[in-house]
Amino acid sequence: VNPAGLKLKPHTATDFIGHHFSHLVLEEDLQRVSQHFSAARAGTPQRFEARVRDEGEKLLTMDISNLPIMVNGEIVGVFGIARDISEQKHFERQLSFNASHDRLTGLLNRVSLEDQLILDCHISRRRKRRLAVMCIDLDGFKSINDSIGHYFGDQVLIEVAQRMTQQVRPGDTIVRMGGDEFIVLLPDLLRDEDVVPVAERLMASIAKPYCIQGMDLHVSASVGITLSDGHIEQPMQLIQQADMAMYKAKQQGRNNFQWYTSDLNQRVCEHASLRNDLQKAIETQSFRLHYQPQIDARTGRVVGIEALLRWEHLEKGFISPAVFVPVAEDSGQIIPLSLWVLDTACAQLRQLGEQGVTGISMAVNISPMHFQRGQFVECIQTVLSKHGLSAGQLELEITESLLLHNVEQAIDTLHQVKALGVRIALDDFGTGFSSLSYLKRLPIDKIKIDRSFIQEIATDHHDAAITQGIISMAHHLSLTVVAEGVETASQVDFLKGSRCDIFQGYYFAKPMPYAEIEAFLSQPASHP
Ligand code: C2E
Ligand code: CA
Ligand code: CA
Repeated sequence: VNPAGLKLKPHTATDFIGHHFSHLVLEEDLQRVSQHFSAARAGTPQRFEARVRDEGEKLLTMDISNLPIMVNGEIVGVFGIARDISEQKHFERQLSFNASHDRLTGLLNRVSLEDQLILDCHISRRRKRRLAVMCIDLDGFKSINDSIGHYFGDQVLIEVAQRMTQQVRPGDTIVRMGGDEFIVLLPDLLRDEDVVPVAERLMASIAKPYCIQGMDLHVSASVGITLSDGHIEQPMQLIQQADMAMYKAKQQGRNNFQWYTSDLNQRVCEHASLRNDLQKAIETQSFRLHYQPQIDARTGRVVGIEALLRWEHLEKGFISPAVFVPVAEDSGQIIPLSLWVLDTACAQLRQLGEQGVTGISMAVNISPMHFQRGQFVECIQTVLSKHGLSAGQLELEITESLLLHNVEQAIDTLHQVKALGVRIALDDFGTGFSSLSYLKRLPIDKIKIDRSFIQEIATDHHDAAITQGIISMAHHLSLTVVAEGVETASQVDFLKGSRCDIFQGYYFAKPMPYAEIEAFLSQPASHP
């Protein structure tokens, strides 16, 4: 052991003697070091790196050579030389960070983009998720840089990078391409649409004022988006697509986002034209309600009907509410529509009563937007008294999405509705977060098990078990269970065996216009 070796612990030469080298080496490296040592003992010179601790417990990286000591052609030991290369290692790490990161913002730079993109394509493919690539270019940045100076420009860029970083999830990547252009990679999206809120958040966070040395500066962002499932031969094409979409955003007057994907583009257009047509349809009242019977599992009698909205488009024919209701929710058109549904359903229930059909309730689907608006409870009261109905004849179908925003307020409104005597059913149960703890707090009367479970109950053990679980849990909470989308006799058998209370589905009857439901309800019960 030479003097340099003594800087390592143990401190004195005698401490070394009779000790195994494992004292010095970091535990994680020990096995590897032992292998090299054995190889040297077997006659092959070795050179390797290992980490050791010095007497101050500082971690050092050593470049070590192990050479066999030969005496008369026989190996009698191993000679070791270690060189401290810690500083060199530190520089290497620094260099590789500098090579892959942007000096100003600390984000990844364009050199790292391709590797990261390839990695993200893999991730999306493997997890069967969507990958979104966004190209973000700042609007109005150049004028800051040119008119008040690079210092201010740099500060804005640093802050833009920080704000953007706060808006994405840990697995997402932000790359500074140079200048005021960034690429954002989101490899783990459930649906295409999920990129929209992220884009909006990024844009909103960038658009907030920047206060630098007492000056308020403003920039905004033009965003181009492209989507992929990760199956792409040349991932860098995604960057080009996002870039093209970004230019479109610039042309559209900046501070907005645009899609690259042609079919998404088409969808955005369709959305806009549907919104137009909806407006006309609302003005000309070209909606109808169809009614679908709900059947008591024990008696086979119709105990209620659900009102389902129908729109016959002039050119496109019938459009499913599953398509146009979300559009109407986006645009706010759902409010007049919802009021019309409620009013019409109540008027027709009254009319049924006048035709001698009694003892059935009317279920109306309520959009969260309508529910959350002020005066919802008053609105229900008004419509009931307008048509001379008792509260017990009306049932509101709500979904869990109602609870996504102000939970306490939603629960409070539900209690008020319930206090009127109106019943509440939780629709599409099993598809949302279906949290049991919420369920206990909600003043509901019924749950409707989603069609997707019912479809498979006769063939899929898993769905069968879930359905049975939901039913027994609901009964524990004194809730009535409705199975929706019942289409076959074997589903009916299974559901009866599982003590489901009410059936709804094509097996019994499809949704039908008023005239037909009136005739249907006037017949005596004829179902098993
Ligand atoms: P939902 O409330 O779950 O309505 C049940 C849907 O399942 C209806 O589709 C109905 O026609 C369909 N259905 C009923 N039985 C069967 C069956 O046995 N098999 C199959 N495959 N389907 C069956 P629809 O009428 O297209 O409505 C779709 C969704 O649109 C509704 O789902 C509801 O979320 C929404 N919606 C309908 N009317 C209104 C409304 O007046 N207001 C609001 N806010 N939403 C509505
Ligand atoms: Ca419903
Ligand atoms: Ca449903």
